[in-house]
Amino acid sequence: MPAGSTNDPVLKLEDLCVFFTSKRFMEKAVVVKAVDGVSLEVGRGEVVALVGESGSGKTTMGRAAIGLTAPTSGKVTLVENDLEVDVGKAKGKTWKGLRKRLQIIFQDPFSSIDPNMRVYDSLKIPLQSQGVKDAGEVSRTIDDVMRRVGLPKELLDNYVFQLSGGQRQRIGIARVLLFNPALVVADEPVSMLDASLKGDIIHIIEKEAKERGTAFIFITHDMAVARVAAQRIAVLYLGKVAEIGPSDRVIENPYHPYTKALLQASPTIEPGMRDKTKEVNVRGDLAISTEHPPGCVFHPRCPLVMDRCKTDVPELKELEPGHWASCWLY
Ligand code: SF4
Repeated sequence: MPAGSTNDPVLKLEDLCVFFTSKRFMEKAVVVKAVDGVSLEVGRGEVVALVGESGSGKTTMGRAAIGLTAPTSGKVTLVENDLEVDVGKAKGKTWKGLRKRLQIIFQDPFSSIDPNMRVYDSLKIPLQSQGVKDAGEVSRTIDDVMRRVGLPKELLDNYVFQLSGGQRQRIGIARVLLFNPALVVADEPVSMLDASLKGDIIHIIEKEAKERGTAFIFITHDMAVARVAAQRIAVLYLGKVAEIGPSDRVIENPYHPYTKALLQASPTIEPGMRDKTKEVNVRGDLAISTEHPPGCVFHPRCPLVMDRCKTDVPELKELEPGHWASCWLY
């Protein structure tokens, strides 16, 4: 199977590119390649983590996957009941239908929910806006999602601002689950939560994936969180997949020097794992620039750089079953 593919895909990204042009006053326009030729599938009931620093392209890729950002080239396809929908080109009725099937959980639920609204209304309004008018159905659906996110019904009378951070995030997830989506992009859903609450949110995602077959793209900068939350991890660097594979294998047996650097920089990964990656001492700041060097995009920072890395782009290679990395060392 090609890199990034899976059995029974719900979402297919094929050679996806998302470029932006940024132009400051009196300066030359710069093309920012936020996502640069990524192919990836997410299977039914699967959680795939996108890991990378800020600027790696993970959020842009997540937004393109649910049609919120248009691809510059390549294709985004939702596969359901043997039907394939081109997400990047959907318009009108098709797009309206897709909105229910493709959802996003934000890092900060306050960014999408009015804090001065009652919890009940924050769930009722999206349902009604999608045409669910029957009061009985509205109430049953709301009770159901509250149960699924582990919140008592009594909270429905509270105002959103009265909720704790963990409760707010659960309401953010409940809003997404109202429509039993096919694919959910969870954009750093636990990064603002305490360690004890992170596990609860990850558990809700895991349960939805398992019991309802919902596919999740879980965006995080934290390798330890990715390992717990996802079956597969894709490590992104400057809009490209540096490494992808089963989560345990990517953490326990990383190939790409950038993956090793991320593991070493992770405060939450077990010290034993970090020791394995000692040889990789990445040059420069971990903050990524928008410049795309020729050859391997990681070469200016790679401690293991060779001559050919500066001119030739490495392809993803399968180094063990389902585990791929793009690096001239292999
Ligand atoms: Fe480093 Fe070369 Fe591998 Fe790129 S291809 S990660 S520069 S060794």
